[in-house]
Amino acid sequence: MAYPFQTQAQSSQGALNTKPTTHNPEWRCTRCDKLLGVCRDGRMHLRFARGHEYFVGFPVQATCRGCGTLNQASSPTG
Ligand SMILES: [Zn+2]
Repeated sequence: MAYPFQTQAQSSQGALNTKPTTHNPEWRCTRCDKLLGVCRDGRMHLRFARGHEYFVGFPVQATCRGCGTLNQASSPTG
């Protein structure tokens, strides 16, 4: 699948910076679109296997469980 609007898809650092918004709080992998976390109350809600859940502050980085891409998200408020 092609995403023509993500022209910076492959940066030299290997991590892409995305900003969740109030309209779309979901944080998804920039490569395979797998759900990585959900932004709640200014923090990122991450869920892992076996019921482990974490609330983390921005900026947050996580490796996609699906494709292994390192994703980064910064605060939706800047
Ligand atoms: Zn992925």
